Amino acid sequence: MAIPPPPASPLPPASRPRRAAPRLIIALVALATFSATLSFGTDVAIGSSGSDPMGHINWTLARPDAVLVIGWADDVDTDQPVAIDIKVDGQQVISSKAQRHHAGRAAKGQPGNVGFRVRVPMSPGVHRLCVRARNAGAGQDRSIGCRRVTTTPVSPARSSANDDGKGVLRTPTGVILPIVGVNNGTFAVSSPCGTPIFTKKGKRIHRTKVVIDAGHGGSEPGAVGPNGLTERDLNLAVSREVVKRLRWLGIPTQPTRTADYRVPIRIRGDIANSLDADLFISVHHNGGATRRSSDPGNEAWYSAHSPDSFRLARIVWEEQYRALSPLPVAWVDTSFAGASVRLNTHGEDFFGVHRYTPDIPSVISEFVYLSNAPEAELMAQRSMVNLEARTIVSSVLRWYWGDQSDGRVGATWVADTSTGTGGFDNCQDPELGL
Ligand SMILES: [Zn+2]
Repeated sequence: MAIPPPPASPLPPASRPRRAAPRLIIALVALATFSATLSFGTDVAIGSSGSDPMGHINWTLARPDAVLVIGWADDVDTDQPVAIDIKVDGQQVISSKAQRHHAGRAAKGQPGNVGFRVRVPMSPGVHRLCVRARNAGAGQDRSIGCRRVTTTPVSPARSSANDDGKGVLRTPTGVILPIVGVNNGTFAVSSPCGTPIFTKKGKRIHRTKVVIDAGHGGSEPGAVGPNGLTERDLNLAVSREVVKRLRWLGIPTQPTRTADYRVPIRIRGDIANSLDADLFISVHHNGGATRRSSDPGNEAWYSAHSPDSFRLARIVWEEQYRALSPLPVAWVDTSFAGASVRLNTHGEDFFGVHRYTPDIPSVISEFVYLSNAPEAELMAQRSMVNLEARTIVSSVLRWYWGDQSDGRVGATWVADTSTGTGGFDNCQDPELGL
């Protein structure tokens, strides 16, 4: 399979920077001279036991009179309410049930991940903030982590406390970055590799309807055809064409990747979430199958816990099958041809594209097997890029129209291995122009 799975343990971007460290220091130095402070706390991951982290704090973002604490608690019993307890300087200040996101899980009794976004009132100064997840019914009470947070006063006239902090920033070089906060016209954004950046440059896009995700990129080529065609390049070409066509139809659309650079899956999900998108479609081309077939082996992967995702996947599969099946090509396939679902051993969605966007119907489109020479030759034709783009555009339209599809349903795949791509390891940011 050429689809990148999520990183095995979804640690927050800032906790595993490699090349990111210098920029983080620059950001923190910039912070010290910044009168209206947007603050990222010092990133300390505690509360882990072995390879089973208890969760993480993604961001602590200082506002004039409060700090937004955003993160995840992992592997908790989600059948009962999970409380997030927050202490500031050793004092319990808030206990919140703010579980806006529920990552998927198979059934009652299975552990799941829950997200939290809690506003913690805080006086100006340097504070130590600690977060625990507590589930009284299941007897769970554990630390997620602590952060050092600096807040400074902001004059009310210059405050932008009402800014919802949503959207993405398009940098002068065309890179799309998820916004995590805005204050006085300064954006706090995440680079593709997860480095916090403060900037006033770039064009803000508040929201969109459809997010089109060109899979892989940069050091991650994805599937490679015998003719040298890489999935990385093909995904981008198709994605660009889809974005152009949807916009032409008047449907606001944003890409996650605009050139040949690496974007870890979590950041792709952050982009879709920040934009409050209606749909998230990830464009891929497959690798690996060798079984000959008289039919195209196209696949559309859906999120196990979203009927809307399933409906979209059946439509995408059907549109693509109809486009491909008249072509005289020596296809390959697997039992997953169709609208299919892949679960991890906890019964959650395996693919990060689905897990990181639990509130947005998402589909991973695998149009053809690039690893199969005849299919790679087919895709070397520009007309095929346009044909594929048309199938995605018509799928989006049918989804908005409320169409049902009786498109084929493929086998369910319960994964027990990870191929280890799609994470933050060895990530190198593109030129951002900020
Ligand atoms: Zn792929």
